Amino acid sequence: MLSFTRTLRFRLALWFMAVLGAAIVVLGALIYFGLQRALLQNVDNTLRNAAVRSVIQSNGEAESERLRRLSLISLAPSRLLTLDGNTLQFDAAFPTAIPIAPDLLNAIQAGNARFETMILPSVIYRLYSAPVRVDDGVDNTRVAVVQVVQSLENEYATLANLRGLIGLLILVTLPLAGLGGWFLAGRALSPIEHVRRDVSSIIGSADLSRRVSNGLPDDEVGKLARTFDGLLARIEDAMARERQFTADASHELRSPLAALKGEISVALNRPRSASEYHGTLNELEVSIDDMTRLVEDLLTLARTGNDTQLPSQLIEVVEMAMSVCDRLMVIAHEKSLELLVKIDAAQPIVAGDRSQLARVITNLVDNAIRYTPTGGVVEVRVSCNITHALIEVQDTGIGIAPEHVPHIFDRFYRTDSARSRQNGGTGLGLAIAQAIMQRHGGDILVASEVGVGSLFTMRIPLIAE
Ligand code: ADP
Repeated sequence: MLSFTRTLRFRLALWFMAVLGAAIVVLGALIYFGLQRALLQNVDNTLRNAAVRSVIQSNGEAESERLRRLSLISLAPSRLLTLDGNTLQFDAAFPTAIPIAPDLLNAIQAGNARFETMILPSVIYRLYSAPVRVDDGVDNTRVAVVQVVQSLENEYATLANLRGLIGLLILVTLPLAGLGGWFLAGRALSPIEHVRRDVSSIIGSADLSRRVSNGLPDDEVGKLARTFDGLLARIEDAMARERQFTADASHELRSPLAALKGEISVALNRPRSASEYHGTLNELEVSIDDMTRLVEDLLTLARTGNDTQLPSQLIEVVEMAMSVCDRLMVIAHEKSLELLVKIDAAQPIVAGDRSQLARVITNLVDNAIRYTPTGGVVEVRVSCNITHALIEVQDTGIGIAPEHVPHIFDRFYRTDSARSRQNGGTGLGLAIAQAIMQRHGGDILVASEVGVGSLFTMRIPLIAE
């Protein structure tokens, strides 16, 4: 059984939770850091304003000592330092524990103001240090440092609250998202489970005529179900054809077997002379030949349908067609038929199994001879177009009625069963020929007219240059 954690539903719910969690974390971080920046900027602005307004210069006094012209008013906790770091004045609220950073005085000397965040044991402060210029009417020289401080306690408390809120949001939403994801995934997947159950029940019942896509919309699951239906239809069709084939094959074997049995029964019902036994054995041999041919054809058909690797010999089509016609010339002459071979100037070369392709030509020429009355002509032509080698077998025989043409490649199909059997046909020749051609990527076309003759055209793909 599929373990719970490996189910698609579980994984979808987990993903849902993870994505939502990540979204909250990213959004939370954006809000948090944005707020932190805004709060700090606010504090910094306040400090800057306070620093400017804290130092009062008493211009009117006659003091020549510039430092003594400065005084501090208490707008914020602040202190006034000399450029060596000695305290000149300080506000009672200014935390004396705030140290003076070693490089601060240098920065001030250079005319730069500076913000710092000071973390003292109990409180966090934001400190602003700025140079103080005394307007002496000459060079506006820097003479002191003003430091203004503000506790960041409120801001940090606000940020801590926000952190808590985001944490709480994650804690509450994640399980909810997990449950929601589980529910949604369950709903989305339930039609798939339906299809799965239907398919397994069809497999269990072996009733391949049932279908699974009935009533399903044309969405992904519907398409999956229709694909299953297509597969079921093909399996059903293949099984029906297999059943038909087995029935046909048994039927075909029954006739020669019944003939054998009949011959033997007749021979055995009373003592016979040696010549009578000889005659019977001759007839038995004919029946056995029929059966052998049939069994061999069945075997060939089974092997051709197999998807085993096709040998890829280079075949000269003209040479192959001529050698087949040479072999069949005797049979044609026996039947007083003319067997002509016409070769186009081209010398097509194809790839495949030579013996199988030769067998197709043999079948076609053999049929042409078989179904052409004495005195007729059978013509074999070899040519090619840009893509295919063409082998045409044309006869002046009995022809095939239009209603039979679509079926002549079916197994055991004969337009005239008695005549075909009598001629030694098994009804498998064209089925085998077509299977071989399909394996070679080619096909066979047929054109026929009753009483005029038939034209079978084999098309075999040429090898790529
Ligand atoms: P068979 O062994 O009976 O010849 P095939 O599969 O070779 O079986 O042919 C199927 C049927 O197609 C034949 O029984 C015959 O009726 C018809 N047929 C095939 N070739 C020809 C032809 N050249 N002329 C007329 N009928 C043909």
